[in-house]
Amino acid sequence: MGNDSIQTDLFGESMWPVLPVEYKPVHPDYVNISRIYLAQGSLSTPKKRQFVENICDLYPEADIRECLETPHNRIDLGETDALALHRTGKRTLVFGELKSAVRFSEEDGNTCPNYWHFSPYGFCPFGCKYCYLAGTQGVKFSPAIKIYVNLADMLMEIDRVANRLKKQTPFYLGKLQDALALDPLTGYSTILVPFFAKHPYARFILLTKSTNVDRLLGLEHNGHTTLSWSVNPPEVCKQFEAAVPTVDSRLEAMCRAASSGYPVRAVMMPIIPIEGWQDIYSSFTRRLVENVPIQRLTLGGICIYRGARSLMERKMELNNTISTHIERVPENAGDGRARYSKALRNEMYSLIIETVRQIRPELELALCLEEPELWESTGLQERLGQCNCVL
Ligand code: SF4
Repeated sequence: MGNDSIQTDLFGESMWPVLPVEYKPVHPDYVNISRIYLAQGSLSTPKKRQFVENICDLYPEADIRECLETPHNRIDLGETDALALHRTGKRTLVFGELKSAVRFSEEDGNTCPNYWHFSPYGFCPFGCKYCYLAGTQGVKFSPAIKIYVNLADMLMEIDRVANRLKKQTPFYLGKLQDALALDPLTGYSTILVPFFAKHPYARFILLTKSTNVDRLLGLEHNGHTTLSWSVNPPEVCKQFEAAVPTVDSRLEAMCRAASSGYPVRAVMMPIIPIEGWQDIYSSFTRRLVENVPIQRLTLGGICIYRGARSLMERKMELNNTISTHIERVPENAGDGRARYSKALRNEMYSLIIETVRQIRPELELALCLEEPELWESTGLQERLGQCNCVL
């Protein structure tokens, strides 16, 4: 790995595996596409064109529009109302290029460590009512599902960063998208997992609610890819997650991935205090840690920006269970995200931590997007900075 990565072929493309072409794209579950945009860069080389056309062939009914002069984030979906725009975005697929796809996070105002993350996809086809991502800047104005075809640029950049740092460095996929939901279409895992498997320094951590693990099971991963799943008890999923694989099927996918030797983790977030939540969460936690060989469990409450909260309240109602438990604080306090009160968060985390400790005292535990007081009150301060996005 290293300087070879910048060699290019006859078409000016990188010598990295540019895009998977020797694979058969298949329809992912829960993805309903009615319109496809081919944005700037999406057809710029023969390989990219072949890759994009193979996927478009799966959607013969879709309205396909070429707009090769328009960047992926400038496409006008023709809606002005925020909820209508969000719903249209979920049915729209955009192919394009993302030039700054490998980035270092800039969290401030909470205890999260900053970390490298990358984006071969943008946003997500699933329909969680609490979706935090829906309110972030990039998604709010451009809420289509995106596939970025400049995968080779991303690999080059990851290689460059990791070789410069000269130590094991995780690159996270799942901050601004679901990491596996579109893999049946793209086959990207067949390039990413082997790339990280061979790399001396770069490591891969991904977060998903998808169950699309079939392609990953046979890949040589060398323990360099960690798969993590976002989970919640079925009672919570039923109320707050639409068009998402059931949590039972996620647990099954986790077990299959673990059987193939992948390190597997879980993120329980957002924990939602529905009626009877104490019994519901302790019983689900027991089931999770008894049946799935996870190496780390990260807990979190709701952490939501104003735009995402307003969409959530329009999808449900103003007085939904999440909103009624959100604490009133000045909007610019901390990192600007709305959360439950510290007392409620402490109660939730403590109950789950106690349940875990009774069954698997050695299991690594962490909190996501939390404040220092919560790490202290839950007795996890020694693990601060060792959460899901990092090694
Ligand atoms: S899986 Fe994550 S990104 Fe996708 S809709 Fe649900 S919360 Fe949003």
